[in-house]
Amino acid sequence: MKPWLGDAEAQAASAAVLSGWVAQGPKVAAFEDAFARRVAALHAVALSSCTTALHVALHLLGVGPGDEVVVPSLSFIATANAVRHCGAEPVFADVEPETGNLSAATVAQVLTERTRAVVLVHQAGVPADVEALRDLCRPRGVTVVEDAACAAGSTYRGVPVGADAELAAWSFHPRKLITTGEGGMLTTDREEWAVRGRRLREHGMSVSAAERHSGGGAVVESYLETAFNYRMTDIQAAIGLVQLGKLDAIVRRRRELAARYHRLLADVPGLRAVRDPEHGTTNYQSFWVLLPDDAPLSRNDVLARLVERGVSARRGIMAAHREPAYAGHPRGDLPVTERFTDRSLILPLYHDLGEADQLTVVDELRAALDLPLVSH
Ligand SMILES: *Cc1c(COP(=O)(O)O)cnc(C)c1O
Repeated sequence: MKPWLGDAEAQAASAAVLSGWVAQGPKVAAFEDAFARRVAALHAVALSSCTTALHVALHLLGVGPGDEVVVPSLSFIATANAVRHCGAEPVFADVEPETGNLSAATVAQVLTERTRAVVLVHQAGVPADVEALRDLCRPRGVTVVEDAACAAGSTYRGVPVGADAELAAWSFHPRKLITTGEGGMLTTDREEWAVRGRRLREHGMSVSAAERHSGGGAVVESYLETAFNYRMTDIQAAIGLVQLGKLDAIVRRRRELAARYHRLLADVPGLRAVRDPEHGTTNYQSFWVLLPDDAPLSRNDVLARLVERGVSARRGIMAAHREPAYAGHPRGDLPVTERFTDRSLILPLYHDLGEADQLTVVDELRAALDLPLVSH
């Protein structure tokens, strides 16, 4: 992945600096409005990262010690960590082999009396089937929080991912489609969550610093609850506004590049590549492939060979339960998760990836799998 940044972002950051207001202020407010509109949510609260957005989301639900929150192990580790930051227990559920996402069927196996929420990840930008999961959770009083870190620009049943989410968390890390360096967003249709989310990100203050400074008169704030400093800066938001304007072009380009990978890899026996699920479209935040079971080399050897040949592929999606931070953490069987994390590989995909480079990636992958090269 390489972010698609240019002069417009540099000028926006520079203008924010020269304005003299660099902390959370008018640019953050404008970015929130524009982002909410883009994902068809009523409210957006900008935060310092998706990890802090997930933490605030769970905090808004009152998740705490003694509670369980279902998460996929097959995700960036921040998904599970956000649960622990609240003092609650992450409970790992397995994922669907087609999408790498949780489903109503995999979550149903691990729900207990103590389950308070499920964090549904739209992994690698592939939309998860949120309606089916909500139908399972709603009667039990369990809230579905969407980890949409990777999913800006993906769609679900014809509308943007996150459109009617109870709470959705987004990331602007450079590894995602649009970036602010670091940054995140929480979207919701519930006004009281947006109001309290804004307070939680800013030390629990009754009046934001930006409001105090623009208010004119003397305003003395009070601190209503113990909260956090999870603010985004106006420099980041200024960059984010420019990036958001490019989102449609970025998604279009990634889908075009993904279609070429699909064509070029179609005849590799046993290889499976990420695709649109039945219920939506992916932004191809990551182009993962599952290597054939009878591949001559292990996944790590394929990866090493690609890197040696100048192809910057990456291991596939990680599994949190395999990491030392979760050693000894109770869990059930996760066969699909383990297969994914062991057999998957992420191929280079970024906005200005050229055709010749893409052909080289495919040639090197075919060579690593002992397949004859084909003329393009
Ligand atoms: C990247 C990512 C995160 C963390 O996002 P940050 O903005 O870096 O905190 C969380 N969940 C998933 C699924 C991610 O891919």
